[in-house]
Amino acid sequence: MSVVGIDLGNLQAIIAVARNRGIDVICNEVSNRATPNIVSFGPKQRYIGEAAKTQEISNAKNTIVSLKRLAGRTFDDPEVQEVEKNFIMAELADVNGQAGVKVNYLGEEQVFSNVQLIAMYLNKLKDITAAEINGPVSDCVITVPGWFTEVQRRAVLTASEIVGLNCLRLVNDLTAAALGYGITKTDLPEEKAKNVAFVDIGHSSYTCQIASFVKGQLTVRGQAFDTHFGGRDFDAVIVEKLAEEFKEKFKIDVYTNKKALLRLRVAAERCKKVLSANPQAPVNIESIMDDKDVSAMVNRTDFEEWATHLFTRTKDVLEKALESAGMAVEDIDSVEMVGGTTRIPAIKETISKFFGKSISTTLNQDEAVARGAALQCAMLSPVFKVREFRVNDVVTYPIKLTWEATPEEEETEIVVFDNNNSIPSTKILTFFRREPFTLQAVYAKPDTLPRGINPWIGQYNIKNVEPVNGEPAQVKVKVRLNIHGILSVESAYTVEEKMVEEETKNKDGEKETKTVKKLVKTGELPVSSGTTALPKKLVDEYVEKESQMYVSDKLIAETEAAKNSLEEYGYEMRDKIIGPLSEFIDPSEKDGFAKDLNAVVDWIYEDGYDEPKSVYVEKLDALKKIGTPVVERYREEQERPHAERSLRET
Ligand code: ATP
Ligand code: MG
Repeated sequence: MSVVGIDLGNLQAIIAVARNRGIDVICNEVSNRATPNIVSFGPKQRYIGEAAKTQEISNAKNTIVSLKRLAGRTFDDPEVQEVEKNFIMAELADVNGQAGVKVNYLGEEQVFSNVQLIAMYLNKLKDITAAEINGPVSDCVITVPGWFTEVQRRAVLTASEIVGLNCLRLVNDLTAAALGYGITKTDLPEEKAKNVAFVDIGHSSYTCQIASFVKGQLTVRGQAFDTHFGGRDFDAVIVEKLAEEFKEKFKIDVYTNKKALLRLRVAAERCKKVLSANPQAPVNIESIMDDKDVSAMVNRTDFEEWATHLFTRTKDVLEKALESAGMAVEDIDSVEMVGGTTRIPAIKETISKFFGKSISTTLNQDEAVARGAALQCAMLSPVFKVREFRVNDVVTYPIKLTWEATPEEEETEIVVFDNNNSIPSTKILTFFRREPFTLQAVYAKPDTLPRGINPWIGQYNIKNVEPVNGEPAQVKVKVRLNIHGILSVESAYTVEEKMVEEETKNKDGEKETKTVKKLVKTGELPVSSGTTALPKKLVDEYVEKESQMYVSDKLIAETEAAKNSLEEYGYEMRDKIIGPLSEFIDPSEKDGFAKDLNAVVDWIYEDGYDEPKSVYVEKLDALKKIGTPVVERYREEQERPHAERSLRET
């Protein structure tokens, strides 16, 4: 059974697996420890991850980045229209009510929703993992930002279901990092908690979480976010400034040319990274547009000035996190950073200055989140034994239930899960009702939600309610915020006060039967729910479509591999039968075989360029029928002298 943690970043994902020796971050097919979060569509196949990255510029309009930012969003969401549109070159579209894309795939226009795109990417990560662990992958833990709401969490969870991943928990990025931190620290205090501030600035967003550690457990105490603060915002600053400079110096406007803009973006990111370690960074782009080469030199001080508005915002999140935890700077014992953007020196300094301490380096900045997720998976998986460690995570946004007033009851709402209520959590609410009623679940403070997110969570109809002896029935409703941070009404039932016999012991220790008044359950009530979950029928369609595309991509890959083997064999044997194999082939066969080999090699480049897999396989088999006996005779001959020699020596 697999035990996998996936840090689903907006730029890239990191995968960690738990093995008997510990937690390992695994490499993808090109030996990178991070896999680009990109999906690209071609005339014959999809390209995902590394393969999509190489298409980012050449096939820009069929390539999609920023998948995570689209999760659970609608097409007309201002975040999609005003923000993400600037990062995604593919045409955005409304797909089944969700934000999605319209691309050219298999030679025709096709649309895919954000859930489908995320599923495609997760399927790739699943493949990468399966190749590494040499077995099937199912159980996993996936990380999401703490600021993700119900609908965004559902999008990721549904995407994982579509590709057959069994996500044991959607865990907040920094909770995963905190778990990894806590479980490996052997010097955690018994009583007075150690408070650690975790700061994550990634590609698109910024989170600070404050957690308290005592031996054997961690409790999240507070968190704060800036959902528009990450590496890509710093890249955008450089792009903007250089675009201005190029306009003046080279008389070109990169904003009028998508490819030019993309190439400048790539160069800007590289420039930004160089500036983290050097006072200056050159930018050179050959033939960016209109056959013009451009170049510029960026100083770190320039960059810091250009991005002042971002740098001055850096401490806001830290302040808010402290406030949410009800702590002061002095209460923080240690500061840990993760995420690529915390490598920018000015950011590191600001954070360090804010807390008045140097940044600790217990965590691996790039891999801590994935490692923590794998640990969480190991803890939830029945096959693994992990040291006992409790993770008390909390609700990010308070949730309330609302209903219509009745003659008996004026109140119409209650906050069921307040800020900093732990998750998972179950609450039982009591209602007095004469007839069926409806509960609405909404986020209680819509203005604290990420922009564009509808505060509505779900509607629950409690059915079959009837008066009892002319009085309102007492109805209990069980509401659960599950381990992923998703809300549900688990059940509803009626209770009545009844006289029941209870056996107790009196002061002499003798058994006594007393009749007492007690609340007893008298019946289950059916509940029908409407939530932000996608309809089952649609999900089934997505499953079907994904598996078709997956099989088709696999076939393309296998065809390509079969063609490569044939080509390789053709070239190799062509040389060898006039070289080392020449005396092992029947002279009557030799010319014909050489001709066949030549013909195959030529054919591959001409008529045989695009054939079904079986054709390549058949041709290779036909060549091997002649070639294999030759190779065998050669090998026998090679081995013979050794055998004879060893006989003589004994
Ligand atoms: P998110 O957490 O926002 O979903 P992510 O997890 O994919 O995104 P990370 O991998 O943590 O993001 O960070 C990627 C960002 O870090 C990129 O914008 C990248 O340019 C930036 N980055 C990486 N190395 C450096 C560096 N040396 N200096 C400055 N920025 C860097
Ligand atoms: Mg991240």
